[in-house]
Amino acid sequence: MSRNSIDFSKNPYYQLFLKQRSQQFKIGNMPYSQRIKQLKKLKTAIEVTYRDRIIEALHKDLNKPKVEAELTEIYPIISEIKFAKSNLRQWMRKQKVDTPMSMLGSSSYYIYEPKGVCLIISPWNFPFNLTFGPLVSAIAAGNAVIIKPSEMTPNSSALMAEIVANVFSEDEVALLEGEVEASTQLLQLPFNHIFFTGSPSVGKIVMSAAAKHLASVTLELGGKSPTVIDNTANIDKAAKRIVWGKFMNAGQICVSPDYVLIDESIKERFIKACRKWIEQYFTNTPKTSDSYARIVTQKHFERLQSHLDDAKSLNAKVDVGGEVEADSKYIAPTIISDVNQEAKLLNEEIFGPILPIVTYKTLDEAIAYINSKERPLALYIYSSSKRNTKQIIRNTRAGGTCINNSVIHYANHNLPFGGVNNSGIGKSHGFYGFKAFSNQRAVVKQHTYGINELLFPPYTSFKEKLAKLTIKWF
Ligand code: NAD
Repeated sequence: MSRNSIDFSKNPYYQLFLKQRSQQFKIGNMPYSQRIKQLKKLKTAIEVTYRDRIIEALHKDLNKPKVEAELTEIYPIISEIKFAKSNLRQWMRKQKVDTPMSMLGSSSYYIYEPKGVCLIISPWNFPFNLTFGPLVSAIAAGNAVIIKPSEMTPNSSALMAEIVANVFSEDEVALLEGEVEASTQLLQLPFNHIFFTGSPSVGKIVMSAAAKHLASVTLELGGKSPTVIDNTANIDKAAKRIVWGKFMNAGQICVSPDYVLIDESIKERFIKACRKWIEQYFTNTPKTSDSYARIVTQKHFERLQSHLDDAKSLNAKVDVGGEVEADSKYIAPTIISDVNQEAKLLNEEIFGPILPIVTYKTLDEAIAYINSKERPLALYIYSSSKRNTKQIIRNTRAGGTCINNSVIHYANHNLPFGGVNNSGIGKSHGFYGFKAFSNQRAVVKQHTYGINELLFPPYTSFKEKLAKLTIKWF
């Protein structure tokens, strides 16, 4: 029997978990130089040894264009490693803090210590980035890690398994391929931290499994990210950046603009500008464009097709695109307006290349609409008005916001990345990722006689007066 009196002996991953747990202090006590060495090995593998095969695997799984693979899969991992390399020494330092007068004779600091054995569960839309990105933070923080990537992108998962096996020993980092059942089995084990990226519904399963052991969690989830365009916005620039952010990876991005909320007076001009930019990026036959990805699986293709059909049956108007081809899992970059509020497109995360346009008459109406839904992972504002921008930010809640752009807040490692409530719990990237995989341990060191000892029992009337003075003075 193990801790908490739960018998894990039949769990297929328990032996691996125990192996990692037995190494946790060895790994956790590795000095800065050793952690950096691990990260450098991973960097070389991704940037040099496996670079071409990563691009190939992504093409097989998602028809991901080469440039997108470089920019949205390889680059974020490499830059995360570089950022950790530049800052890790500072992050690992003990952080001195002030000590109050009432504790005279002592000093205080805290340290970031590794959580121990961590589980990373990742999704399919950016398989390498969203698996190795958190891994960089976990290694920087000194943890042992078990990874379970998505079964939806098998070529990428198989290659990641090979990379991990070649770069790390199993008791440091292990990657287990498998279906949902593999996640379910792993989630039974008493990990110290679980870092999950995926849908809010599975996030709830992860969090309730973590609750059994009171494991801490980082949940990087999704949802419907609104894009507000007010009547002061530069319409052409807005369309240029929204079309880019929406149709990259065929809209299968957690921070993709899910729907547009636009002042009704500029709707038609915006749609026209979107049509122009879609043609500019993907030609007028995006199906033949090398710059346009495909839907990951037949199941997701069917889900999106049925959402489109559902909206059309409720009298929505397809303004741009709308073509689908089941064999190649192709859905054209699609702009759709006059969508009924009951339509699935306006009630479920789209996660595909369909952009519904919702109009508003007043900014208050737009804000009320956003607040009638779950708190989003991203909220984009296109406006030239500081007043309007401030009004939207102050009266909504979101994981992150770009003003006059889409998606790019993800790329700044100095910013915390993550959602709020339904779109996520906890933050990642840069220092915030390191922090997610660390425990902040508070330390007080007594140097001399502690002034608080004057208040030790027995509690005389003199000590009662002293207690009152302490409350008054300190
Ligand atoms: P998903 O939740 O279906 O799956 C994610 C992972 O969880 C996969 O590894 C899968 O095997 C596992 N899983 C699935 N069902 C499970 C279950 N019942 N029990 C245990 N594990 C289970 O998500 P997805 O389809 O891979 O990705 C799409 C979702 O992820 C979207 O909602 C998107 O917004 C979100 N996402 C969020 C971020 C972010 O950084 N916040 C990034 C990418 C994707």
